[in-house]
Amino acid sequence: MVRKNELREGEVAIDLPPAQDAGLVFIGRIRTPWTSRMETPRQGRQDGPICRLEIFEPFVPAIKGVDFYSNLEVLYWLDQSRRDIILQSPKNNEKTRGTFSLRSPVRPNPIGTSIVKLVGIEGNAILVRGLDCLDNTPLIDIKPDRCEFTPLAAPQPGDFETE
Ligand code: SAM
Repeated sequence: MVRKNELREGEVAIDLPPAQDAGLVFIGRIRTPWTSRMETPRQGRQDGPICRLEIFEPFVPAIKGVDFYSNLEVLYWLDQSRRDIILQSPKNNEKTRGTFSLRSPVRPNPIGTSIVKLVGIEGNAILVRGLDCLDNTPLIDIKPDRCEFTPLAAPQPGDFETE
């Protein structure tokens, strides 16, 4: 069963330290077909349904150039997740793994990432396939897929360091 907010047998939750504000701003919201975590894919697939990255003002001009790339990396805030479980039992079988060895949405800072396929741009919206989040999930960032991206700025000394 997909996790809602329950603590399973063997899992360990902690008292979270007070939040330190990282100063995030949500740049938009993600429109998807899924309204229940029980139905949302565990990982997006590049032949999955078209989803819309709706960009808010004043960030809309930042879309410029995105269509140069076929694949994008999308970062989003899994806003309905628990954040306090450090040992998790994905199979709900009392066997646990550490949160940092999982891609579970349940994590101290519930950031999701997906590599998505660009379908097109419609006004303030970027259409993509490959997401796995609920409708209206807050959008944190969009970058070109690193496999397609070559830095545009001149290299720096560290780029040539190998040891
Ligand atoms: N692809 C991302 C990653 O690897 O970082 C996210 C993977 S996570 C396993 C995807 C699951 O997160 C979905 O199946 C759903 O159960 C859950 N989820 C999706 N949107 C969410 C949201 N807004 N808040 C909390 N959980 C969400």
